[in-house]
Amino acid sequence: MNFREKKVIVTGGTRGIGYAISTAFAQRGAQVAMVFRTDRNKAEQTLLEIREINPEYEHLIFQADLSDPGATALTFDRCVSALGGVDIVVNNAGIGINHSVDSVCYEDWQDIWQKTLACNLLGPANLCFCASKHMIAEGGGRIVNIASRGAYRGEPEKPAYGASKAGLISLGQSLAVSLAPYKIFVGTVAPGFVETDLSADLMASEKGAGVRAQSPLGRIALPEEVAHAVLFLASEGAEFSTGTVIDVNGASYLR
Ligand code: NAD
Repeated sequence: MNFREKKVIVTGGTRGIGYAISTAFAQRGAQVAMVFRTDRNKAEQTLLEIREINPEYEHLIFQADLSDPGATALTFDRCVSALGGVDIVVNNAGIGINHSVDSVCYEDWQDIWQKTLACNLLGPANLCFCASKHMIAEGGGRIVNIASRGAYRGEPEKPAYGASKAGLISLGQSLAVSLAPYKIFVGTVAPGFVETDLSADLMASEKGAGVRAQSPLGRIALPEEVAHAVLFLASEGAEFSTGTVIDVNGASYLR
């Protein structure tokens, strides 16, 4: 797949799955703008790596809290003006906080629902809005959202996370229908567990073997395998797959 001359925004693009997505686009010729929330050192390190991978373009990093609607619109405008446009937006940034009913008080329950929905659902909805307006004016584009297997399977420890990802899937389906006339194609990737820094402790614990055994492949996904599905949905030729949800869960949950 060739993304030469494509301009891509990847939220949460400097680490974890987002890092693999940013890298995959850069390797295939794209110019990448990565949005991160806190870890500037890691973001700068990733930027250097991306520049080495694809020195043809000036790649960019932007710090922003995408759960803030004003910051989201501002960041989108900054990305577009620095890139000189945008062809592909990947809503990858997300948070997941444990808050099972039996472990939190009502105040924390409220707080975690609000934070999770603001980051995982409203943030992407706002970025989709900004991106769509731009892409309508430019004659088309692609949006890929990163959801989760938990949208289908449930998330007993993180109910707000599961609901936010189910909402994100529904958002992608709605937009795929309403934006198709504008040649804007919207897809969703729903990974199961992925090998990132965040899952490292769990996978090293006594629960790790059970998690690996959920898949007949006996392992969890690599971030590059999630990126591969993103590339497909963003690629030329995938137009008729708009509205689809690609599971990247090693057959650990079939629906
Ligand atoms: P991660 O924590 O390593 O990375 C998340 C990224 O999102 C970070 O770069 C962070 O800066 C950014 N981010 C978080 N909140 C933000 C905010 N308010 N504003 C701007 N940026 C923000 O996580 P990851 O494991 O790489 O996950 C990436 C995506 O994949 C998430 O949406 C996650 O829900 C989803 N996912 C992950 C797994 C997994 O096992 N790791 C499984 C299924 C789905």
